[in-house]
Amino acid sequence: VKRVYAFGKDAEGNNVTEGNTSMKAILGGKGANLAEMANIGLPVPPGFTITCQTCMEYASAGNAWPEGALDTIQAYREDLERRMGKRIGDADDPLLVSVRSGAPMSMPGMMDTVLNLGLNDQSINGLIKQTDNPRFAWDSYRRFIQMFSNVVMGLDGDLFENAITAMKNVRGAASDTDLTSEDLQELVAEFKQIFSENVSAEAHPSLVVDGIVQFPQDPMVQLRLAIEAVFGSWNNPRATLYRKQNKIADDLGTAVNVQSMVFGNKGDTSATGVAFTRNPANGEKEFYGDYLVNAQGEDVVAGIRNTSPIAELKHVEGLEEAGRELEEVFVTLENHFRDMCDIEFTIEQGKLWMLQTRVGKRTAAAALHIAIEMEKEGLISKEEAVMRVDPEQLDQLLHPQFDKNADYDVIAKGLNASPGAAVGEAVFSAADAVACAEAGRKCVLVRWETNPDDLAGMIAAEGILTSHGGKTSHAAVIARGMGAPCVCGVEALKIDAERKQAVVAGTGIVIREGDMISIDGTTGTVVLGAVELVLPEMTGDLDTILEWADEFRTLGVRANADNPEDAQLSRNFGAEGIGLCRTEHMFLGDRKRIIQTFILNEDEVVRERAVGELLEAQTGDFLGMFRAMDGLPVIVRLLDPPLHEFLESPRALDVEIARLEATGGDKEEIARKRLLMEQIDGMSEANPMLGLRGCRLGIVYPILPTMQVRAIATACAQLKKEGLDPKPEIMIPLVSVTAELEKLRRVAEDVIAQVASEEGVELDIPVGTMIELPRAAVTADEIATQADFFSFGTNDLTQTTFGFSRDDVEAEFVPQYLAERLLPFNPFATIDPGVAKLVKMGVELGHKGNPDLVCGVCGEHGGDPDSVRTFHQIGLDYVSCSPYRVPLARLAAGQAAL
Ligand code: PEP
Ligand code: MG
Repeated sequence: VKRVYAFGKDAEGNNVTEGNTSMKAILGGKGANLAEMANIGLPVPPGFTITCQTCMEYASAGNAWPEGALDTIQAYREDLERRMGKRIGDADDPLLVSVRSGAPMSMPGMMDTVLNLGLNDQSINGLIKQTDNPRFAWDSYRRFIQMFSNVVMGLDGDLFENAITAMKNVRGAASDTDLTSEDLQELVAEFKQIFSENVSAEAHPSLVVDGIVQFPQDPMVQLRLAIEAVFGSWNNPRATLYRKQNKIADDLGTAVNVQSMVFGNKGDTSATGVAFTRNPANGEKEFYGDYLVNAQGEDVVAGIRNTSPIAELKHVEGLEEAGRELEEVFVTLENHFRDMCDIEFTIEQGKLWMLQTRVGKRTAAAALHIAIEMEKEGLISKEEAVMRVDPEQLDQLLHPQFDKNADYDVIAKGLNASPGAAVGEAVFSAADAVACAEAGRKCVLVRWETNPDDLAGMIAAEGILTSHGGKTSHAAVIARGMGAPCVCGVEALKIDAERKQAVVAGTGIVIREGDMISIDGTTGTVVLGAVELVLPEMTGDLDTILEWADEFRTLGVRANADNPEDAQLSRNFGAEGIGLCRTEHMFLGDRKRIIQTFILNEDEVVRERAVGELLEAQTGDFLGMFRAMDGLPVIVRLLDPPLHEFLESPRALDVEIARLEATGGDKEEIARKRLLMEQIDGMSEANPMLGLRGCRLGIVYPILPTMQVRAIATACAQLKKEGLDPKPEIMIPLVSVTAELEKLRRVAEDVIAQVASEEGVELDIPVGTMIELPRAAVTADEIATQADFFSFGTNDLTQTTFGFSRDDVEAEFVPQYLAERLLPFNPFATIDPGVAKLVKMGVELGHKGNPDLVCGVCGEHGGDPDSVRTFHQIGLDYVSCSPYRVPLARLAAGQAAL
């Protein structure tokens, strides 16, 4: 097996790169694209990549190197030294390298990096000689010891920061840059001392010299330990959490890139930066990013110093040429990758070097805009444009925003780093954010900057607010990835995380922990107090992409809605009908009392009166629904849930009776309640979801479907007389045997015929059924002889196929199954292959029984992009989902067809 791949040029300037961009699974994203950049002639500092597979082998062998791997690395190191004409550790002209992680999927900031590797007590002299800059050299050495100790040996970074602070205090230095070369040399000695005192000799016997642990002087030892640390960081807790969050497999491993160092901190003609070829927040075609003059690598992303915008670079003295070259690189990269790229670069004494590129993360709004613009530019096809937008991401666009009519005072402005608005209590640490969310309260995480340790808090918070860092800072990148609103770089905010408060400079305003604040990541606004939020309208770009998706898709998209407002909303989102109107949702509030009367009374007269009231109410409901969906099909499902869902809980009644008795309550009332409790108790079932519900209700109480069908038919007739075009369809739930459907279909047809003759209009109302029980799916050929349409209720079908209770699934064993990967995903969210098999069987058999059968799905899966793809492949006619998922389903259906 090949474990190591070279990239970059040799000593003669020939490209000796062995990999390319298609090899991400082997070289990781960073390694594959470093190779690709070198292949297309961009300036990449030479180096080599150790494969992801080596990482996994090393990890699965209990952190032991595969045979021969270290020898290969040694050989590639020697080759790199020949290519560079320098040797690692050399006392005259040393080669320094960076050691960086790089997984197949981007995991920004989650794993480890070591810079300046190769410095030791000899090579420091070489670095001084070559740069003629002792201060730079000693600063590099102290950074290396600090980073190596922290990242590779796991020592607390504060040990070193405290030593720097102490030194600054002694010298009366205001900032790090005020420390002299001699100061830094002294710090190096101190750092080595800290290393010796804090690294365990037992854990690292190979580092013990003369009885004490020593900072390793042998560059090959440094390199081996650094690579092992990067391998190990694949399984650190934050990387593991990030993978879980982003559904990245645990067995991919990370590659390790060993690359010649270039320095952005060699003075005022050196710089380092992060940039995007277009604006990743809104998709505008402009150069976007930040840089810092005289700085090294992580300084930009860490948000430690405030950065300058990339567009200014070519106007900075000494950086003009590199700035112009960078803009050419942007164009080269976009034309090559045919997508928006993000890049990391360093300018060393006026010379530009590319350290990384990848297809850049972007907000949903930017994804839409970039896809449309690139199609117009002729860079990509319409099909590609449709494929470029992640349906799940569209959710972001439907995120709340500040109500334009709301009254609020802006207390500070920052950078609009990730769109959407958030309202919550101010919290000042990730742990507090997690605690707040666990207590069921909304919060906004306020930090000076964020770092990967804050991830759990960022997930828990509604939004993120930072006082430091640019639009490519950690907070901004992660927030955009998660779709969480983020305002960053609010310089006026002086945060005191210890005291859990922040002061807005120049205003005297103090934000304390628990104070409600609101942030708008679309505009960069910060408000003290809770601002009213509203949902946004469909933007032009969203409309365009969805129209393009509509051109390709063959799968219809309908909505699940049970009131005229939701029906209208889904119509605005492009729904082509209502796939499921759950009529039980129409029995809330006042109606609940009426249905209770029906359920609890034996007296036929009382019952009939109750049904009469329900008929009137339902007719009104359907008038509203059919009017909103005029001209489009509306599938009305007859009553489905177990009846006790409409009744009080016997346990609550019991408590109330006890209370009444204890407080000497009215005897008659107590007796009445006790009778009621006994009655309800008598109706209780051991497994109500497998009990008297669905079509079984209609068989036991035929008066209920009769009433509902009459309401539907009457509303339909009335609207027809008004000249409208209502298209109701009647759906019978939870059928398991054909005879159930046959019987209820007859009831429905009789009522429809009656109403048609009473009203004097022709009524053509299809009658169909839900397929949500395995028996129905496997006997679908027979059932279809009685059905005009099937709608697969995949919620119940999943419940009954697995035998998992859909109502308990979150709380019970399924989370453990997911954690242990006994299940690859939650089958109630994404359709399981076994359940999908039943759907497929149902469709195929159904068409045997009735060639004209229309088939759709109306479970939650109808709004899940992965499931939409499966349903497209099965050949369903449509999916039906909640109104807000309609745009997403349209896009997913378009993509499924490509
Ligand atoms: C289903 O079971 O998938 C369905 C749509 O019906 P409900 O969720 O109302 O049971
Ligand atoms: Mg159901």
